[in-house]
Amino acid sequence: MYFNRSNEFPRSAEVVVIGGGVIGLTIARGLGQRSVRDVLLIERSALGTEASFAAGGILAPQAEADRADEFFELACRSRDLYAEFAAGLFDETGVDVELDSTGTVYVALTDEDFKEVEKRYGWQSRAELAVEKLTAHEARELEPQIAPSVRGALLFPRDVQIENRRLLNALINSVANFDVHVATETNVASLKIEHAQTGARTGRVAGVQTSCGRVSCRTVIVAAGTWSSAIEHSHTPTIEPVRGQMICFDAKPQLTRHVIYSPRGYLVPRKDGRLLAGSTSENAGFAKQVTAGGISAILANAQEISPNVANLPIVDTWAGLRPRAADGLPVLGPCDEIDGLFYATGHYRNGILLAPVTGELIAEAVVSGHISPLLAAFSPNRFNLAHVS
Ligand SMILES: Cc1cc2nc3c(=O)[nH]c(=O)nc-3n(C[C@H](O)[C@H](O)[C@H](O)COP(=O)(O)OP(=O)(O)OC[C@H]3O[C@@H](n4cnc5c(N)ncnc54)[C@H](O)[C@@H]3O)c2cc1C
Repeated sequence: MYFNRSNEFPRSAEVVVIGGGVIGLTIARGLGQRSVRDVLLIERSALGTEASFAAGGILAPQAEADRADEFFELACRSRDLYAEFAAGLFDETGVDVELDSTGTVYVALTDEDFKEVEKRYGWQSRAELAVEKLTAHEARELEPQIAPSVRGALLFPRDVQIENRRLLNALINSVANFDVHVATETNVASLKIEHAQTGARTGRVAGVQTSCGRVSCRTVIVAAGTWSSAIEHSHTPTIEPVRGQMICFDAKPQLTRHVIYSPRGYLVPRKDGRLLAGSTSENAGFAKQVTAGGISAILANAQEISPNVANLPIVDTWAGLRPRAADGLPVLGPCDEIDGLFYATGHYRNGILLAPVTGELIAEAVVSGHISPLLAAFSPNRFNLAHVS
């Protein structure tokens, strides 16, 4: 199935984006905003139905960081782009992505957790980042449903959340406004690469081979999440699936106001009364299943944060596959060996958080050739390209 202005499957495009998750959609929008006319987004099933749909929507670089490194800088930059990103999407589409700036609370529930909280507070306050230390009493005053065993907490007022399913909806409407051509239920099997000489390591993109036929193009962006390295001749560094399961409760009235983190789990209150609890991190291949073991681990961690979770009805459960590169960092930018080939994958646990900065910097790299220094640590060329052909 496909849809575009003429309703015919395009045989050529200026830029092909492979993958219709939050990353591919945000890049396609970024290209549309930069007046690239002939963008084709190819999605093998329906738009926004994989990891991006399964996520919790937490935008919390500070709550999880043990140090200021390049990843922390990229993640904070993206979080700080969110207000403008959400407002822009609302103007374009009328969809409110429910950017919630109440803040994130990180709770210490054991002595070990408390040491971690002290350490995190220490480096972040020295770096003059926004963080407040709360005593056990203050934490329970702020969030009365937190377990009485809480030892203390940190409040990160700038770490926020969005409703990721609304975000996907907004992005899908936005790319339609920018006249991006979208082909769904279309699998990209391989890339077509031209080599000056047979067997040469270097070459340039000539097109993609899809289940609907070949598309000629000079630029391809691989944004196919955990399936990225399965695309033949894409030279993508290995990306592996890490399964995450989630539970959704009906919590009216809502149990907490903030996103609450512990080192073992989290609770995410949604505006409509849903309360999400997550998650697991499992190497289970591509099996996107909800399991008894996964659900019982999430329940235990959620009840450790707030014993009152035990009284809530469970209304939904699901699982998704996080795309993880060998070093756990995103893979962003051009391929050294193949002209016209870009990657935006391996976002692992932070693809929703990193979407605005990825969309902006990758679209800019494609259009102007400028590679932001922010991308240096995430270059695909940091891996040995083992399967160039
Ligand atoms: C349980 C869970 C909770 C999470 N919570 C958070 C969170 O709170 N905050 C956060 O920032 N991140 C979170 N994440 C991580 C985040 O969801 C991912 O990093 C992000 O969604 C990755 O986006 P993506 O577009 O790269 O991948 P996906 O959303 O998986 O999209 C990739 C798309 O590519 C398509 N595709 C694959 N191969 C092909 C092909 N050959 N041809 C055409 N199309 C193809 C797929 O069908 C898919 O639609 C969570 C993930 C999980 C599983």
